[in-house]
Amino acid sequence: MHTVDDRITERIRAADYQDWRAKMEAIGGCAKPIRLTGGYDLVDAPTGRVIHSHEGDVVVPCNNRRDSVCPSCSARYAADAFHLMRAGLSGGSKGVPEAVTTHPRLFVTLTAPSFGPVHNRSITTHGKVRRCACGDCHHQYDPRIGAPLDPEGYDYVGAVLWQANTGKLWAEFTRRVLRTCARLLGITITAFKEHARLSYGKVAEYQRRGLIHFHAVIRLDGPEGPDLPPPAWATPDLLADAVRLATAACQVDTERPDGTALPLRWGTQLDVRTIAATDVEDDHGAISESKLAGYVAKYATKGTGKSEAADRPIRCQEDIAYLRVSDHHRRIIQTAWDLGELDKYSDLKLRRWAHMLAFRGHFLTKSRRYSTTFKTIRGDRRAFRLHESLTAADLDPTTTLLIGTWDFLGAGHANDAERELAAAIADRLALQRASKYRQEGPQ
Ligand SMILES: [Zn+2]
Ligand SMILES: [Zn+2]
Repeated sequence: MHTVDDRITERIRAADYQDWRAKMEAIGGCAKPIRLTGGYDLVDAPTGRVIHSHEGDVVVPCNNRRDSVCPSCSARYAADAFHLMRAGLSGGSKGVPEAVTTHPRLFVTLTAPSFGPVHNRSITTHGKVRRCACGDCHHQYDPRIGAPLDPEGYDYVGAVLWQANTGKLWAEFTRRVLRTCARLLGITITAFKEHARLSYGKVAEYQRRGLIHFHAVIRLDGPEGPDLPPPAWATPDLLADAVRLATAACQVDTERPDGTALPLRWGTQLDVRTIAATDVEDDHGAISESKLAGYVAKYATKGTGKSEAADRPIRCQEDIAYLRVSDHHRRIIQTAWDLGELDKYSDLKLRRWAHMLAFRGHFLTKSRRYSTTFKTIRGDRRAFRLHESLTAADLDPTTTLLIGTWDFLGAGHANDAERELAAAIADRLALQRASKYRQEGPQ
């Protein structure tokens, strides 16, 4: 019987090792690479002549954003999320002009309401840990933090329905911000839209009680987007007032299984901060751009909680018992699973999203004109690599086309030796990135 070490040695000595290693480096040591078979032609576009043909297998990265699934791809996702949010904040790249830094910009955190008291750990202004309602002073890693003081009295149904409707709640919020801006100015919504546009980029972060917060950059631009300045009346104060009023008034109506009304609202905790144009934080609580984009990168790869066991959708009731999650999270998942059986909630697809604690949105969403997209960033990266390879082969990148046809072969590494070698490559690349990160943000 071979040990993993034997198999690793074998892999390194194999004739195709250099080739395999180059492929793994190109995909950053992805933990679950997708293997494809097929081929490509390089075609000279003006003449249609095939310059070069290649057949064989390729590997592409899994692109999973969860650190628990693939450290390498999640690091790249965090970097992309960072650049995407940053472009909308600072401009100067990715189709967003630098002048956006002069537009009114706010950093807003919208929270979940309470569904029952939970164990918490808060700090006094003197840096002391406040005593929790249970009588203990919780350590920061105490698993009880975020769990209900009285699980039987906790409103799990309310929590699940709130979380599943956060997309609607957000849409209603942005509508209201627009309407409130217009109302405060004494103009119609149509008149407002003729002169200004509301853009946002937002990320979702799970709190320890299993409910999400939205952290959003909200910006006022000219009517077509960031290229033109908003009118003089579009001030940060106007936007901040509208955000506060809209948050308080925002409501989505739904009902409990027994038919009683369940109005869904944001939590009363609301944080609204103006974004400083420079990287120096001022003493009025403004937040700097780089600190903010750094938060985004940090949230990007976080899962639903500390254990991050529920990486995949749940297929049956039996799955729930075996998840390595806290009792509290298990109960949220169970509630979502149970409610998912009811017709009245079918549009929420609660079973499909039970493993995400009923949150069915994306980690990062943005309005159309906020900044670039993940697709554009990835396309740019591919285009850049192709451009480099073609130039290296003395081919003209502007007239050479790459035409490929690929079939799916499988996912994941062939064996544990390859998996470990790929992980070592990912580790080394992560170390290289870390030193760069400290200087200029994630790469
Ligand atoms: Zn991957
Ligand atoms: Zn407690």
